[in-house]
Formats: sequence, structure tokens, C-alpha cells
Amino acid sequence: MKPFRYQSLPGRVLFGFGTLAELPGEAQSLGLGRLLVLSTPAQADEAQRVVSLLGERAVGAFTGARMHTPVEVTEQALAVAHDLRADGVVAIGGGSTTGLAKAIALRTDLDQIIIPTTYAGSEVTPILGETDNGRKTTQSTAKVLPEVVIYDVDLTFDLPVGMSVTSGFNAMAHAAEALYAKDGSPVVDLMAQEGVRALMTALPCIAHDPRDALGRSDALYGCWLCGMCLGTVGMSLHHKLCHTLGGSFDLPHADTHTVLLPHALGYNLSAALSARQRLSQAMGGGEPPRVLHDLARQLGAPIALRDIGMPEDGIDRAADLAVQHPYWNPRPVERDAIRAMLRRAWAGEPPVIDQALS
Ligand code: NAD
Repeated sequence: MKPFRYQSLPGRVLFGFGTLAELPGEAQSLGLGRLLVLSTPAQADEAQRVVSLLGERAVGAFTGARMHTPVEVTEQALAVAHDLRADGVVAIGGGSTTGLAKAIALRTDLDQIIIPTTYAGSEVTPILGETDNGRKTTQSTAKVLPEVVIYDVDLTFDLPVGMSVTSGFNAMAHAAEALYAKDGSPVVDLMAQEGVRALMTALPCIAHDPRDALGRSDALYGCWLCGMCLGTVGMSLHHKLCHTLGGSFDLPHADTHTVLLPHALGYNLSAALSARQRLSQAMGGGEPPRVLHDLARQLGAPIALRDIGMPEDGIDRAADLAVQHPYWNPRPVERDAIRAMLRRAWAGEPPVIDQALS
């Protein structure tokens, strides 16, 4: 066994069907009686449902959360929280709504209860990405870690199949990169492998029947494990590429992860053989990059950057950006090889698997 360091994350997690009903009791345990409920405009009805459930413990809702946590939206929400004298926030939704809760907590130290409805995993990470004047910056601080996360499988049945699949790929990307993180550990390896296994089993079931209870339950469980990986260790090339491309070309977050993950793993796994073995086991065999590319195609998810809004003349700029201030990576990040990889991903071609593996 190699030496390792492991930092566990604080926070309480409830998981199950119908667990939303436990929200008032959780608020009471935290001593919160003036909660502001957060959502995106698309989930305003869910936010109202949460307000009703909380009764006298809710002071209102702010339903303006947006992707990539724009600072101007945070300022609007802060003004509402201040006017209503909120003593905590409840976020119901995906990574965008969780991001708003974290941005409020960063500035106010208000307690957060998060009720995730996608598989992004942000609710268990100390990471906050914010956008100011079109520039996205990311920081990691324990100040933004939620106090309580309530996973209620019932709330995920209506997540459209397309978003379920891409959000599931987003989650698996956290686990895949955790398996070769330089600050990894045996505990993180276990969470990562089990998270990928659960999602690989769940996603085809959900695509076949979006109301498959076992599939939905496995997917939410897998997303929690994968989120814990993201929250515990550093990420590498794949996440760097997704952030660069998302920020530079305004590409949809989960779709970008889905297209790039097979290619980034094709690039990295020859330099990360233990990660390759664990991923392959989690997938029931095969070369992980190819298995993921085939699964995305089979489930109707995007497999080409050109289909999700990336212009062809952006490939060179993206390759340049990827090699500037690169994250630590198991294989050296070389511009020409990255450019070739991005071109294949742009065109929707299968990932190249390093010869050493074939
Ligand atoms: P999202 O939160 O932007 O949700 C997309 C849309 O789907 C929204 O309109 C939302 O209201 C709706 N939606 C969510 N759940 C639904 C459901 N069950 N049924 C129907 N509609 C539903 O998407 P996301 O992929 O969850 O989050 C992406 C954002 O999260 C990005 O800004 C990304 O940077 C961030 N993120 C952050 C971390 C972190 O650790 N900080 C991790 C992952 C993602």
C-alpha cells in the first residue's frame, strides 16, 4: 500500500425515496426558522412546494438561479435574503442552484440544505465556480460546504432522459479523474469505482424507462459517490478541458463532459494503468474510453463538440488554452496531441486508445 492522506468532508447526508419530508426536521435540528428557498426559473413550482412544506420556517423563494453562478444573480439573491432576514438557504435543483446557495454561503456564512435533482454532485464539494463579466473563476473553500444534503430519488424521476445521461457522464468524469489523482487514496478509489459501476448500470435502465425506481436510485447513489471524489481530490486534463471549452465557447456543461470524457481517458489511461483497470472492472470489461463512447452513442447523448455549439476554428484556440496553466496530469499535456484529440472529439470520431493498451 502506498502512503496516502485522506481528508473526509463534513456534512450530513440523507438518502432514499420520499426523504424530502424530512426537510422540516432537518431545519429544526439546525435551528433554522427563516429559510430562503432557491431554484432556477424552470423549477419554481418545486421551490413553492418546498416553501409550503417548510410552512412557518420559510420566508420566501428566489427562483432566478442560472448556470455558472453569475455574480449579478448572487447579488440579487443576497438582497432578497437580507430583506427577508433569512437565516439559511434551501436549494432544490441541479448544480446551478447549488452554486447559488454556495455563493450566498461564501458571503454570509448562512447554513445550506441542498436537495439535488440532477447528478452533477456539486452538493458534496467545497468547490464554487462563479462568473463575473463573462469570466469564470473557481475556488475551493470549506465555507461553501452544505450542512445537509437530502437525496430524494422521487425528485429525479422527471429529469429528462437526455439530461440524466449527460449529467451521469458528468458524475462519472469526477470519479474517473479521481482514480488517477496525485492526491488519491484507497478510500477515494473505492468510492470512484463503485460510483462508476452504479451509474453504468443505472443509465441504460433510465434510458429504457425513466421511471425505473432501481435505476434512478442507483444513479443518485452513484452521483453522490462521484461527487465525493470531486470534493476530495484534484482533477486533471478532462476537467481542465471542460472548463476551458465551456467558458470559451459557452458550451453546455454536462454535454461537454459527455463528449470529452472518452477522449480525455483515451489520452490519459496509458499513463494510469490502475485507474484503467478499476474503470474497466466498473464497466464490466472493455477499454473504458471505447465503452463510454459507445454508451453515449447508444443512449442518444452527444458525441461531437460540433453538435453542441463548438466552432471548428475554435479547435486551435482550445488547444492553446488547454496547455496554458495545465492542471496536474498523469501524462504530459502536449499541444499537438491535445489538438488531435480535440479535432476527433469535435468531429464525433471514436477516441484513440494508446497502442500500449491494445
Ligand atoms: P443545471 O443545474 O443547470 O440544470 C439544468 C436545467 O435542468 C435547469 O433549468 C434545472 O432547473 C433543470 N432541472 C434540474 N433538475 C431537474 C429535474 N429533476 N427535472 C427537470 N428539470 C430539472 O444543470 P447541472 O448539470 O446539474 O449543473 C451545471 C452547473 O453546475 C454548472 O454551472 C457547473 O459548473 C456546476 N457544477 C459545479 C460543481 C461543483 O462542485 N462546484 C460540480 C458539478 C457541476
